[in-house]
Amino acid sequence: MTEPRYLPVALRLDGASVLVIGGGNVAANKIRLLLPRSANITVLSPDLAPEIVQWLEQGRLSHLAQAAETETLSTLIPRMRLVFAATDDESVNRLAARIARDSNVPVCAVDDPEPSTFITPAIVDRHPVQIAISTGGAAPVLARRLRTQIETLVPEATGALARFMQSRRPWMRRTAPDGPARRRAWEDFVDGPGAEAALRGDEAQADQALAAAVQGAARQGEVWLVGAGPGDPDLLTLGALRLMQNADCVLYDQLIPEPILERVRRDAERVFVGKRMSHHIMPQGDINAEMIRRARMGQRVLRLKGGDPFVFGRGGEEMAALAEAGVTVRVMPGVTAASGCGAYAGIPLTHRDCAQACLLVTGHARADGTLDLPWDSIARRGQTVVFYMGLSSLRELCAALMAHGLPGSWPAAVVERGTQPGQQVITGTLQTLPDHAVQARSPALIIVGEVVEKRVVL
Ligand code: SAH
Repeated sequence: MTEPRYLPVALRLDGASVLVIGGGNVAANKIRLLLPRSANITVLSPDLAPEIVQWLEQGRLSHLAQAAETETLSTLIPRMRLVFAATDDESVNRLAARIARDSNVPVCAVDDPEPSTFITPAIVDRHPVQIAISTGGAAPVLARRLRTQIETLVPEATGALARFMQSRRPWMRRTAPDGPARRRAWEDFVDGPGAEAALRGDEAQADQALAAAVQGAARQGEVWLVGAGPGDPDLLTLGALRLMQNADCVLYDQLIPEPILERVRRDAERVFVGKRMSHHIMPQGDINAEMIRRARMGQRVLRLKGGDPFVFGRGGEEMAALAEAGVTVRVMPGVTAASGCGAYAGIPLTHRDCAQACLLVTGHARADGTLDLPWDSIARRGQTVVFYMGLSSLRELCAALMAHGLPGSWPAAVVERGTQPGQQVITGTLQTLPDHAVQARSPALIIVGEVVEKRVVL
């Protein structure tokens, strides 16, 4: 069987018939989940746990004091919107699940994802705000641990904030009729002191902040040059994440892996402007023009770059073009490939014993294949040299370093797809590395120096 993929949805239950099979603690847990969500609950079980008896006495559910037999289940289940099979007998739960599936009624056999057609996530509840956490049934304990962590992050009064925002929506629609401008005003409100005020319950102050946000929302578009780091989403800065969440569109290239793009606001328009070796998809001038055009339309443009925008990222050129066009530009640094690859490969970039400096060098060859670099300062002991974009010139780089005085035994490494799934670290010397690394693929970084010998395999 292929692994099931789940779609998280929020189901509206008011008045819908829900059957809970079983009367023990597990059933009680499911009923506790259903009660505040106004379901019309029927419990099928000969015996009931005291808590369920109490709900029954309060008139909050109906009870059928019968065993879960095929005939009973076949009559009951097709009339239901949802079924929870929550007895302590797996075969009974599976029987119920089969009947429900045959009748196209969504069913959850508790602690048994296999026969179930839905599963219940762990929930952080700040009504009307709810956060559902699911591991797709793979690790419920992990889901609960994540819930604990999220509980600490989401203020208790988040529900009150959502209610405040809900109550001001008609006013906002009248005051800021333009959709994107209105969304921006809401975002400014949520990011600013207004949200804090609403959380405290200070509505007057919150209203004032909201009015200010609406005025500001008519402002110009802008461009954010944001470093996304070398691939692992853990290496995004909090600032990068915030900007990724607020952007109207994202211009990205091939260095940005999907797990990072997934963290960009889902409605943001995605524009691929990647340059692949030798077939240019979009010339730099066109990228600049596109950013300027969008900013002038009032968009908040996210220019997402691998690593750090100011390290071999053309961030300087783009910033200058934007400034010249009078477009507001902000720069958010990122973890550059050298830091990320060094850390994840266990190779320090400097070391008191052997490397008092670290050079970041481009290994990108000119069209004729030659490398125009200040070799005398690069081919030195006592320092680390990190080559970006050097993989296809690896052999020439190593030869040049030896020709300018470093020994053939000088340590060197290639880190391929650093910080990403499938990261490879290949170590050797200037003499051996080109042969060891013939299989390596881009993106790859070359680290040259005695720090490679300090490597600890992590
Ligand atoms: N601005 C980026 C560098 C862009 S140049 C930064 O600060 O990291 C592109 C080069 O960066 C690639 O050719 C490769 O040498 C290096 N690079 C980027 N991401 C990498 C990764 N995950 N692993 C190894 N090298 C990487």
